[in-house]
Amino acid sequence: MSASAPACVIVGGGHAGAQCALSLRRLGWSGRITVVGDEPIHPYHRPPLSKGYLKGEATFDQILIRPVSVYAQQAIEFRLDARVVEIDRAKRAAILADGAALAYDKLVLATGSHNRKPPIEGIDLPGVHLLRTANECDTLRGAIAGASRALILGGGFIGLEVAASLRRQGREVTVLEREPRILSRVTSPEMAKVLHGIHREEGVEIHTGVTVSAIRRGAGLYRVETKEHAEYAAELVVAGTGAAPNTLLAEAAGLAVDNGIRVDAACRTSDPDIFAIGDCTCQHHPMYERDIRLECVQNATDQARTAASAIAGHPIPPRALPWFWSDQYDIKLQMAGLSNGYDDMVLRRHPGLPRSLSAWYFMGERLIAVAAVNDAIAYTVGSKLISLGKAVDRTRIADPNVDIKTLMDNVRGASS
Ligand SMILES: Cc1cc2nc3c(=O)[nH]c(=O)nc-3n(C[C@H](O)[C@H](O)[C@H](O)COP(=O)(O)OP(=O)(O)OC[C@H]3O[C@@H](n4cnc5c(N)ncnc54)[C@H](O)[C@@H]3O)c2cc1C
Repeated sequence: MSASAPACVIVGGGHAGAQCALSLRRLGWSGRITVVGDEPIHPYHRPPLSKGYLKGEATFDQILIRPVSVYAQQAIEFRLDARVVEIDRAKRAAILADGAALAYDKLVLATGSHNRKPPIEGIDLPGVHLLRTANECDTLRGAIAGASRALILGGGFIGLEVAASLRRQGREVTVLEREPRILSRVTSPEMAKVLHGIHREEGVEIHTGVTVSAIRRGAGLYRVETKEHAEYAAELVVAGTGAAPNTLLAEAAGLAVDNGIRVDAACRTSDPDIFAIGDCTCQHHPMYERDIRLECVQNATDQARTAASAIAGHPIPPRALPWFWSDQYDIKLQMAGLSNGYDDMVLRRHPGLPRSLSAWYFMGERLIAVAAVNDAIAYTVGSKLISLGKAVDRTRIADPNVDIKTLMDNVRGASS
């Protein structure tokens, strides 16, 4: 590569960083690409850390985003175990912790998010686990081997996935959730109730409306105390208490930040030569007519492709519909769209199949989101209907005798 070739420096070697580098090459960008990642390993899929990898069902090589050799073939350089500590916008350089300066023509911030640590006495005790990196997952796996009981702080997706993985490994599991119900931030009360019931059937104890006040260690056990004067004991504690975007670098560089690094439709920050993608961003979504910050693989991947298109001079793809999945026991939950603000919800159940259902969320006439448990067809049809933005017959959705695929025929018929 000639010394005069343009340079793109990508800060963060996670989902978004890896995808952006690969997309730049696929789009024919011939400049130099350097990914700086503060983990000592190449990019890997994080979702298995609370699922298959945690249960020992997948090796680390199997969760790599691409085999390491692919990056060399694509002339994508990596600086691993290296941290960008400053962006010098005047000199257009990313400064590493060891003082090295990487000159850039385009800079991409793909710094992800970090686990929120609740201000609880004892949260930093060794043996109270957070889960974000493969390294933390390896440590947790080691601890699971010597534990018969586990306490999970937080009944969000990560907490519940860890609960399911530990139950599958025969551990006694108790989940403590501060809110009056599990999944309060991410799904409706009805869907949360269904998932709560499934965890109960699987033998997980869930306590909602409890605020942990302290964690103490003694005699090989962790004792978790709550403000409601209850006490729980286990050999293992995992905190799944939410995430916050990594924005310090951007803030220090004077970029616009508000609940994430602000980006436009092309994933450009307030500096036209600096892009931001993935968990660390906040972007307007035209379909939902508001600014949103998403923590999911879909968003990381799609924003990476968008930034790569802008850098490589290609048209910007339209903003994608958000989607997310979660695996717990024999449950695959798939969600398309965002249900926040819905004013009506239709549940579709299948007689004789208690673990297969879907929830369809409406705002006025518009279908805005679908969450499907073990029902891939409902998820697929729902996704298409949301994107089409057409009115859908709610009584037909609720009727299990109606083939859900025919909803698409009606829409096509109505619009033709
Ligand atoms: C346990 C777990 C389970 C999950 N399950 C699901 C799921 O089932 N479905 C789903 O859609 N999503 C899931 N997610 C969320 C998903 O993994 C994230 O949305 C996705 O990883 C975001 O990608 P990203 O590249 O923005 O951030 P990340 O993948 O977090 O990568 C950011 C990287 O940047 C590094 N970094 C930060 N600052 C610097 C710096 N200054 N210099 C160098 N490097 C830096 C970070 O250390 C990290 O390696 C899960 C996440 C976790 C933790």
